[in-house]
Amino acid sequence: MYKYAGIIVNNASIQLDKPFTYRLPVSMYGKIDIGYRVKVPFGMGNKKIDGFIVELYDEYKGTGRIKEIAEVCEEFPLFTERDLILIREMREKYLCTYLDCIKVFIPTGVFKGMKNKRESLVYCGNMPEGKFSKEIYKNIYKIVKNNEGIFTKSGLSREFNLSLSSINTMIKNQILLVQDKVINRYNERIYAQYLPKNLNKEQQAAVTRVLSSKKRTFLLHGVTGSGKTEIYMHLVSEMINQDKEAIILVPEIALTPQMVERFKGRFGKDISVFHSKLSDGERYDEWLRIKMGKVKVAIGARSAVFLPFNNLGLIVIDEEHEGSYKSDSNPKYHAREIGELKCSISGCKLVLGSATPSMETYYRSRKDEIELITLTNRADNAELPEVEIVDMREELLNNNKSIFSKKLQEAIEDRLKKKEQIILFLNRRGFSTFVSCRKCGYVFKCNNCDISLTYHSEGKKLMCHYCGEKQAVPNKCTKCGSKYVKYFGVGTEKIEQEIKNYFPSARTLRMDFDTTRGKNSYEQIYNTFRDEKADILIGTQMVAKGLDFKNVTLVGVIAADLSLNLPDFRSAERTFQLITQVSGRAGRGEKKGVVVVQTYNPENFSIRYAASNDYESFYTEEIELRENMEYPPFSDILLINMSSKNENLLIKSIQNVGIFLKNRLEENDKINMLGPCPCEISKIKELYRWQIIFKGKIDKEFGENIRKTVYELLKDVYNDIRVSIDVNPNSLL
Ligand code: ADP
Ligand code: ZN
Ligand code: ZN
Repeated sequence: MYKYAGIIVNNASIQLDKPFTYRLPVSMYGKIDIGYRVKVPFGMGNKKIDGFIVELYDEYKGTGRIKEIAEVCEEFPLFTERDLILIREMREKYLCTYLDCIKVFIPTGVFKGMKNKRESLVYCGNMPEGKFSKEIYKNIYKIVKNNEGIFTKSGLSREFNLSLSSINTMIKNQILLVQDKVINRYNERIYAQYLPKNLNKEQQAAVTRVLSSKKRTFLLHGVTGSGKTEIYMHLVSEMINQDKEAIILVPEIALTPQMVERFKGRFGKDISVFHSKLSDGERYDEWLRIKMGKVKVAIGARSAVFLPFNNLGLIVIDEEHEGSYKSDSNPKYHAREIGELKCSISGCKLVLGSATPSMETYYRSRKDEIELITLTNRADNAELPEVEIVDMREELLNNNKSIFSKKLQEAIEDRLKKKEQIILFLNRRGFSTFVSCRKCGYVFKCNNCDISLTYHSEGKKLMCHYCGEKQAVPNKCTKCGSKYVKYFGVGTEKIEQEIKNYFPSARTLRMDFDTTRGKNSYEQIYNTFRDEKADILIGTQMVAKGLDFKNVTLVGVIAADLSLNLPDFRSAERTFQLITQVSGRAGRGEKKGVVVVQTYNPENFSIRYAASNDYESFYTEEIELRENMEYPPFSDILLINMSSKNENLLIKSIQNVGIFLKNRLEENDKINMLGPCPCEISKIKELYRWQIIFKGKIDKEFGENIRKTVYELLKDVYNDIRVSIDVNPNSLL
């Protein structure tokens, strides 16, 4: 019988990152287990705080006095022993605390004391003769009879204009009864049925291989429109047949109504949907439904990989190359890595799907660590679109100063005439992307960040895209006072305006961060475009994936170079992915699609290979660069990022850390250290930013060493300096 427990307390301090021993009161013997949340007295004042059980033992061999657990919070554990294996693994891999890792398994609602939501609903009892024969009572009884278990007392009174005191009298005499019922906060909307399609040969072969192969991890590399979603759904059905469960991960942006429509339409109430716009209550209820085994399938963004299924058979990660699968707060996990760990712990399968796999994943499939399944054709025999590259330097030479090339203008005009639809893609929101003084060259920057401000025509404000700060539009230069302040650079707002200038009768829609903030705004834009109530959809990377509209026959990429010019080793890969993905929106029906890619770097290899839809060649060229430069997948990167309002203290501290680590690394020729130096974006939200980068074979031991050293060296300035350690970060900016 376990009498003691090792408990992780809910306190974020690094010093407390270890299990503390507590005694179980006799009343809890045999009643609690790993993963239970409890209240424990902690610290000098014995304040009661939350704790999580991670160890249980019969005997206590230490000497100190031991405190007792005060109470158990839920009647069930919040995580399992298998989860605990993952928690320990993550803590080492991502250099963070137990608490960081525990928290990803638990919906925030738990910490707010959220429970099932219950309401007292009214039902009918027996209607006696005599005393209650008055019309008013009969009327109430009749109404309740027709609406049993739907309304509360006050709800009835409000909805049907009934006297509350009469209702109360009837309840007192048991003519009406009240009963508590659990209310679901999740969305029970019914979706149109989405019937299974007969798989084509390639799709069928893919399904068979996943189900029969001994390998655990698969890369489903299929061109855009090859019907990957249908494959996922067939695999999920197979899991349900085997009485197993499945998780489908999609990047947040791809949680389009379309994906949800398809899955809800196929699996109905068997599936839970998780997206960032759920309330804490909705999230909690869905989580509990899964935990109680009432749902077999979940579809959601990154964190859905931690959902508490008990008998998981399959994890699918759609668009596996997407950056949003990597968390940028602790634990800084990658959903792909968690998926693999989960699969090895519980023996399920992992399917990674993409038209443009990440370099890391494709490299591993080449080394046969992952089984590669390739789909070369579009599912419904549609042809891949034809891509034309337009050199914008030549447009200038031909005196075209517009943001649209002649080719794109003509193509737009043609589609408008034919009543076909158009998608225009530009990965930058706002109107003008920087504002500067013609006379002295001053660029207007945010007061809190080292970022130039973007002009937004809606609201007529300058806005910082990092901290959200807004400034009034300047009428003169802050530095020299000159009145020649000019607006440069093009964002989605400007494209929309230009379209209105050139094609006044075209009906446009804009889909970017600014137009999709409301709870249903994304869906509204989507529906309008699907119903062909708009001709042109203009947007940021939100339009690049997931959309499957048969009437779209033209895609315009306004500036393919944008992502190319970022000082980041992934910029070629990102450019290739974006262009391929957005091009893939065209020609999904019977009519052939055309893509016009505008660029100032027409000879760049990522643009050229995206245009010829040649992933293999892109991969071959890029992997060689990675090898020469020793970038992932040939090495790992460990990024130490430090930030502070106090710039001097920051520089002094990071240089200290730098010198110490440099000395330590002297005899290690497998790891290179770069920096300390200021980050590319040297200030965000009033915090100055510096970094140190390690490149090489980063194992757990090295990571743990770095973590210990950094926290030790910084312990006196810990209140003034923020540290982040990230293994294989998304970006080095
Ligand atoms: P991907 O995710 O690979 O880009 P989708 O899953 O969106 O592709 O599929 C593209 C289109 O092909 C969709 O409209 C889908 O309904 C259709 N489709 C998929 N599988 C089949 C099939 N076996 N037969 C006919 N049409 C299919
Ligand atoms: Zn000036
Ligand atoms: Zn800012």
